[in-house]
Amino acid sequence: MNNKKVWEKPIINTHVSGVTNKFGAASAKNYTDNIDGVLYKDLIGQFGSPLFILSERQLKNNVRSLLRAFRSRYPKVVHGWSYKTNYLGAVCNTLHSEGSWAEVVSEFEYQKARSLGVPGKYIIFNGPHKERAILEQAITEGAKIHIDHLDELFLIEKIAQEKNSKVPVTIRLNFNTGYTESWSRFGFNVESGQALDVATRIAKSGNLYLNGLHSHIGTFVLDPKAYAVQIQIMCSFMEMVEIQTGALIESLDIGGGFGSRNSLQGTYLPPEQVVPTFDQYADVICSALIEATSQREANGKERPTLILESGRSVVDDAEVLASSVVANKRLPDGRKAVILDAGVNHMFTSFWYNHNVIPVRQLTGIAEDVVLYGPLCMNIDVMRASITMPSLDVGDILVFSPVGAYNNTQWMQFIEYRPNVIMVRESGDVDLVRAAEDLSVMVAQERMPQDLQNTFVAPDHDDC
Ligand SMILES: *Cc1c(COP(=O)(O)O)cnc(C)c1O
Repeated sequence: MNNKKVWEKPIINTHVSGVTNKFGAASAKNYTDNIDGVLYKDLIGQFGSPLFILSERQLKNNVRSLLRAFRSRYPKVVHGWSYKTNYLGAVCNTLHSEGSWAEVVSEFEYQKARSLGVPGKYIIFNGPHKERAILEQAITEGAKIHIDHLDELFLIEKIAQEKNSKVPVTIRLNFNTGYTESWSRFGFNVESGQALDVATRIAKSGNLYLNGLHSHIGTFVLDPKAYAVQIQIMCSFMEMVEIQTGALIESLDIGGGFGSRNSLQGTYLPPEQVVPTFDQYADVICSALIEATSQREANGKERPTLILESGRSVVDDAEVLASSVVANKRLPDGRKAVILDAGVNHMFTSFWYNHNVIPVRQLTGIAEDVVLYGPLCMNIDVMRASITMPSLDVGDILVFSPVGAYNNTQWMQFIEYRPNVIMVRESGDVDLVRAAEDLSVMVAQERMPQDLQNTFVAPDHDDC
């Protein structure tokens, strides 16, 4: 195991008195000059600014501790990596090398998983939109298909008939746990009886059989008890379906949603205090599952495989964004503002989180309230609405964390090129894993009608 702490040279920080944060700590007096032993200054020097930086060590530690927490409490556990959380190939393959399956929600993600070498039978295919061609491919390749609605069920049945085969399927369930809103737009409702009708319909089909149940109760779910209720509802549904339809359920997929070490805007306490550890989630979930399936062994049936689709909790704190100060400003209301070279088009999650922001050198001087803006010509481009910080120089580097979840998939091309993404390897080497864009990337998909080429006409009177 490679999770030994690296020895770090002790440093002495001079205490600078100034404004304290709400917990009485002198915030932003800290700094970090390196990630996994590599200096930020050197990384920016080599790869430019802004820069997304992944830590292979942290990513591996996360997935290993997730699996250790669950496998030490329940015999059969699979992790399906939620591609939409971060589908950079290097991220996916790091997790696949630890045994994670692929959890995909679209044709593109399915194709990406296949192109990364994941065999169909290790792909979990979720989502409400799967066209016939990709469904045919997924069926042929033996993917685990999770049905979202009746039209999909009918289409899969038709394909199975044409192929003259019997296709295993999982249905997605929705129900009310009392803890999160019940994402009822996905899957089949349990309380109304719809899900049981669908299971019955599948049992009557000569070309399909039901062998799995899935649900995803939300994201950033901070109370593990929500999952205990989810398990209870899914297990009683499982028992009912098996008795009434003769199905044998082999897997229970409880989706994702575990919190990451990030501060949701509006949350008072820091994430260390409100976000449960993997062990805390596993304790509640596995106890509920063992209890709810205890009769099965007595009845000669195996307990189902537990499938986890954890996304943000696995990748969020394995990536940071380093960004440089472009300018300092004083706003008309007296507040201080700093303009950075990375904006919300690259760090989409700034709409929901107050990320940690840490300088890479010790800042001196009196701390004051600052607003951190990105480089976009838009008012909404706020990277951090308010943070207490001493003054910064142009060129100073600030590190935002954690940013591994949902940024490298939801970022967009809006007036700025997306920057390099690098991975600091466990070996200490640094690899480029996604190259910065340039003009050719931005215009690659455009097609120019013949008569619109080089149309610029200089104005008649060049006196403006
Ligand atoms: C998005 C998603 C996940 C991952 O959710 P996290 O909150 O990032 O853990 C898992 N399963 C499904 C079906 C999803 O849509």
